[in-house]
This record gives sequence, C-alpha cells and structure tokens, in this order.
Amino acid sequence: IQQVLLVDELQQWVEQYRSKASEGKCASYIPALDRTDPNQLGICIIEPTGKMHTAGDWEVPFTMQSISKVISFIAACCYHGIPYVLDRVDVEPTGDAFNSIIRLEMNKPGKPFNPMINAGAITTSSLLPGQTPDHKLRYLYAFFSKITGATPTVNEEVFLSEWENSHRNRALAHYLKDTGYLACEVEDALEVYLTQCSIEVTTEQIALIGLLLALDGYHPMRNEQVLPKDVVRLAKALMLTCGMYDASGKFAANVGLPAKSGVSGGIMTLVPPNRKPHSPFQDGCGIGIFGPSIDGCGNSVAGVSLLKHMAQEWDVTIF
Ligand code: GLN
Repeated sequence: IQQVLLVDELQQWVEQYRSKASEGKCASYIPALDRTDPNQLGICIIEPTGKMHTAGDWEVPFTMQSISKVISFIAACCYHGIPYVLDRVDVEPTGDAFNSIIRLEMNKPGKPFNPMINAGAITTSSLLPGQTPDHKLRYLYAFFSKITGATPTVNEEVFLSEWENSHRNRALAHYLKDTGYLACEVEDALEVYLTQCSIEVTTEQIALIGLLLALDGYHPMRNEQVLPKDVVRLAKALMLTCGMYDASGKFAANVGLPAKSGVSGGIMTLVPPNRKPHSPFQDGCGIGIFGPSIDGCGNSVAGVSLLKHMAQEWDVTIF
C-alpha cells in the first residue's frame, strides 16, 4: 500500500514540477546537450530492500557529466589512499562557478579547491592509475561496474561535442600542469575527464550509487562492503559542501541532503538511515533525478524544485 501511495505522489509531483523546465535551459556550451528535450523529468528512488520507486522519464539515458566526479574521486582515494589525493586536491567549497579559473592562483598556487569542480576533477582524473588514458579509463570502468553491476557505455557524440569545445577545461588543465598538480599530460587528463563525463546512465544507476553512499559503502542487496566507509563519508561531505557548485549552500539550506549534479540535468542524492518512525525512508535510500533544463549554476531546475518539495513533504534531511 505504501509503495502505491509513494508512486502516486511522486508521479503527481513530477508532473507539477516538469513545467519548471521553462525557467532554465539545456546546457548550450556542449552542443550535443543543447539538443535534448528540456521538458523531461524523471526520478528513481531505491531502498535498501531493493524496492524501487519511479516516476516520469526515469528510464531515459543521459550522460553523467559532473556526477562522475564523485566516482572518480572515490576511485582515486581507493587506489592511492585519502592523504595522497588530498595532497593534490583540497576539500574547500569555492562559491564560484564549476568551471571557474579565478581561484587557481590562490590557496597554494595551482592546488584545486575541491574535486567537485572542474579543476579538481581534472586533477582527480589524472590521478587514476595507469600510464595512458585507456588504462585510466579501464580502471574507472571496472570500478563503475563493480559498484553498479552495469557495463558503462560512453556517448561518443557528447564526448566529441565537448572535446571540440573544451577550451576552458583545457586552460584549467594547462595551468594545473604548469603548477605540477596534474599527474599526466594535459591532453590525456582531458581525455579521461571528458570521457568519464560522457558515460551514459539512467536515474536507476545513480540512485543505486546514491544508496551505497547512504549506507557508507555497504551494498545491501549483495550484503557486501563495496566501498571503504571513510572514503564514502569524505565524498558525502564534499557533495554537501560543493556538490551543487555555487548553489551548494542554498541546496543544503533548502533540501539538506548530500547531492551531486551534472550539466546534463542529472542529480544524484541520498537519504541516510534516520530511524524516524514517520519517515517513508527511515532505512535510507538513494535518489536519481534527470531533468535537463538547468539554471545559471548548472543544476536541474525542475530536479532541485522536486527535491525541495519531497524533502519537506517526507521530512528527510541530514540535519
Ligand atoms: N563535462 C562538463 C564540463 O567539464 C561537466 C560539468 C558539469 O557537469 N557541471 O564542463
């Protein structure tokens, strides 16, 4: 009975917030993303029992974009250990746009402020093990498969579209190379970073990753610790403070959940187990959203509105 109620509610909210798409637009700096239908909105919620609640365009594939930053960061930490990675990328929010260049000369010159913005994520991608982009990507794909059980596919059209228009990311990477923070050649780091951004997922896969994060790396259906607890907690702290870029403060204030967005309109978020008897997700859940019309900060307009509404209605917050 509960599931039916939730799905009915979800469907109603999705239809209600779909119209919010008109307040934003699809990312135009990546031409392939600009061709997406902006009025799509879908959501998938997965509980530790494996029970799944879905509504709207939840099955539509989209490229992960910046959501991949969480995965590559976790993968790099699993391989090198946390201290090695944090020597090369900091954990401070910037309050600047995700692709901003301005702060790279501050702090320790060249040290990116955090791995959830482009400068930090390009650095993280360069840290993945392997001498060539292929090796690094193979490690990342294997990591992705290990946690999701799915084989990643790359959307070549989106990759090429961004590769040809990646002047800003190239500028960031050159600066990082100059200051010694980039662990490989500029073009190789960009190839890894832009390919990981072009991995296609559905809301179901990011909801599953969200669920694993909610449970500190424990995979409830496989009854297995698939990710180290300390790395997952660090990733969640970064999602809360930096995951929605220069709107992370507002998102924490209005929704109150660790989340990571991408310019294709995806949002990966999670509810940790809270044991509140009246909460529909007291054992925690992972949430995946897709709504390609984004705001000026690069976050899904309809997705953020839907999450704000859900968090209030269902009383889910980490605070
Ligand atoms: N691939 C995108 C970029 O580097 C990812 C940015 C994002 O999703 N915010 O610009």
